[in-house]
Amino acid sequence: MSETVGIFRCENYDVEPLVGILKDAATAVGFNTGSIRGKTLLLKPNMLGAYPPEMGITSHPNFVEAAIILFKGLGAKVCVGDSANGIFEIDSVWERTGIRGVCKRHGVEEKVFEREGSQIVDGLLIARPVLEADVVVNLPRFKTHGLTVLTIAAKNLYGCVPGLQKTRYHQKATDRLEFAKLVVRIAEIAKPALNLVDGILAMEGNGPSAGRLVPLNAVVSGTNHHAVDTVCAKIICLDPKHVDTIEAAVSLGLWDPETKIAVAGKTPEDVRPATFDLPATFTKGMRDWWISLFVINRIWGGISIKPKVNEKKCQRCGLCVKACPVDAIITEKAASVHAELVEAQAVHPSTCSGQTLARAPHVLIKNCVQCYCCHEICPYQAIDLNESLGVRIGRFLGERRIRKLNGCK
Ligand code: SF4
Ligand code: SF4
Repeated sequence: MSETVGIFRCENYDVEPLVGILKDAATAVGFNTGSIRGKTLLLKPNMLGAYPPEMGITSHPNFVEAAIILFKGLGAKVCVGDSANGIFEIDSVWERTGIRGVCKRHGVEEKVFEREGSQIVDGLLIARPVLEADVVVNLPRFKTHGLTVLTIAAKNLYGCVPGLQKTRYHQKATDRLEFAKLVVRIAEIAKPALNLVDGILAMEGNGPSAGRLVPLNAVVSGTNHHAVDTVCAKIICLDPKHVDTIEAAVSLGLWDPETKIAVAGKTPEDVRPATFDLPATFTKGMRDWWISLFVINRIWGGISIKPKVNEKKCQRCGLCVKACPVDAIITEKAASVHAELVEAQAVHPSTCSGQTLARAPHVLIKNCVQCYCCHEICPYQAIDLNESLGVRIGRFLGERRIRKLNGCK
């Protein structure tokens, strides 16, 4: 068994050259561009929330536009579809990300997954357009993720679940590996024929929404989403088995980590950044090293990284209160939190006139299951991830060792 993954240089988001790069990236990995004429082709970008393109949280509209031009030119009936985090007002997501504008300009149909109906497949609720499309092309962004370490090809397909159902799945699968298994099962149902990763500007640190943008100047492609994620991990010197979705896919028998992966175009080393910060929640490197494991577990008392509302940054929009799947974020008056939620609706600063909560909310640590949904959605990066000194030291030691083992500095 072997797979091919492509890595292609791309310096910026200029649409015209990007169309050519995406075409090269698709053909290099064996995607049959001649086979899609007349077929319904669904582009699945990352539309996490109502964030403007310059924040680098969602798919860049020019990346989506280049894909539309490419696949329309090849004769496919192209549509664009995704489902945002269920707490956002849907139209503001499509507007603010710039993806509605791109669809309109090219006469391409929007598939708002929250409005298109859904179907249960293998016990999971999947948006109908994903199941009805002849071809799904996955357009993830290269980002870190507090819960799954990376959100690239497999994790982007979690958006195939419509709206608030995503939060319900977080309630059900509070263990990180169980959640990752859910994600890879959804990815298996969506089965994209092609993955085109926007790694032109990637996000390091506390992604998927509060990290820093770093230029990788690369597009990564492949027909197998786990192979693509494996190569993306190698680009940043991360052991692929430390990516939760890969670990989950291996445990479910959906990915063989021994699969031979041929890389077309550039090599991972060619596009490797000098450094790439993982999320504060990443503790696997240190777990693998018995000394740091001993230090953390015995001396500093376990590994846990807890969210905390940064009162200075908090704009009291109330989104995190609504996003928490286990009601662990409360306002000052805990008893009235549910009434406030009812009033809060799905608000976003771009669509509401002011603050929803009288005070910054706070996290009830004893109830928190560390899913980091609050951190993911806060539009003001006002949820800090607090780690102890022990965790920091353990990660430093563990990560250094892993990077050395992988031949990185
Ligand atoms: S922490 Fe963020 S999401 Fe929560 S109320 Fe404050 S600004 Fe809104
Ligand atoms: S407080 Fe944040 S991290 Fe904790 S359970 Fe709620 S959403 Fe998840």
